[in-house]
Amino acid sequence: MNEIVRALLFALITAHITTMCVTIYLHRTMAHRALKLHPFISFLMRFWLWLGTGMVTKEWMACHRKHHSFVDAEGDPHSPRLVGLATVVFKGVFLYTEAVKDKEMVEKYGKGAPDDWFERNVFSKRRRLGVLSTLAIDLLLFSFPVGLVVWGIQMVWIPFWAAGVVNGVGHAWGYRNFDSKDTSHNFSPFGILLAGEELHNNHHADITSARFSRKWWEVDFGWLYIQSLSLLGLAKIEPAKVSLY
Ligand SMILES: [Zn+2]
Ligand SMILES: [Zn+2]
Repeated sequence: MNEIVRALLFALITAHITTMCVTIYLHRTMAHRALKLHPFISFLMRFWLWLGTGMVTKEWMACHRKHHSFVDAEGDPHSPRLVGLATVVFKGVFLYTEAVKDKEMVEKYGKGAPDDWFERNVFSKRRRLGVLSTLAIDLLLFSFPVGLVVWGIQMVWIPFWAAGVVNGVGHAWGYRNFDSKDTSHNFSPFGILLAGEELHNNHHADITSARFSRKWWEVDFGWLYIQSLSLLGLAKIEPAKVSLY
């Protein structure tokens, strides 16, 4: 296999794992408490997110919970209705960065975030060290500039697909299973690329559910992984508090 193909596969597999960590750990577990993860799995995911994104759990939880609290209204950190779809898709990461500068907001909405030694001394304090370590690993694994391109793909993956496409398109285009009082849409029935985050209207209809798919033809990859972790005794799925059936 030539180096370009190996590099592309590596970039896509690592980006997929990062997407899983965002949806399973940050979103469904930490922000919404829809499941409990084994502490070791939680730690691994937090460590992976530090390497792959430099994002801090408490800040992500706060920004996302604020989105649910103010959805589509003044105060929503990334509403296409307020700032336009193109701005959220292409500059969503800057909207996120701007929102989490508000430390009072982070304290208010980020309750229950990890506050252990690693969080204080590594993940929050040395957030650039994680992504720079990933750059070093990529350059060790691949020649220059292939390793640099792999790193570029890994670094723009979450800012574009999660902060951009999910937050933007998920409130603009697609179909709706539930008549929620917001603009949330399911923009693809196949939650493969974004691990179920595509089913955004289903999620807004019941934020307490660890499962984002609702119809038999909808595929939620995040849910498949959660079920596998649960079978292995590494996750405990909380019963959804709102019944949609
Ligand atoms: Zn939303
Ligand atoms: Zn949510």
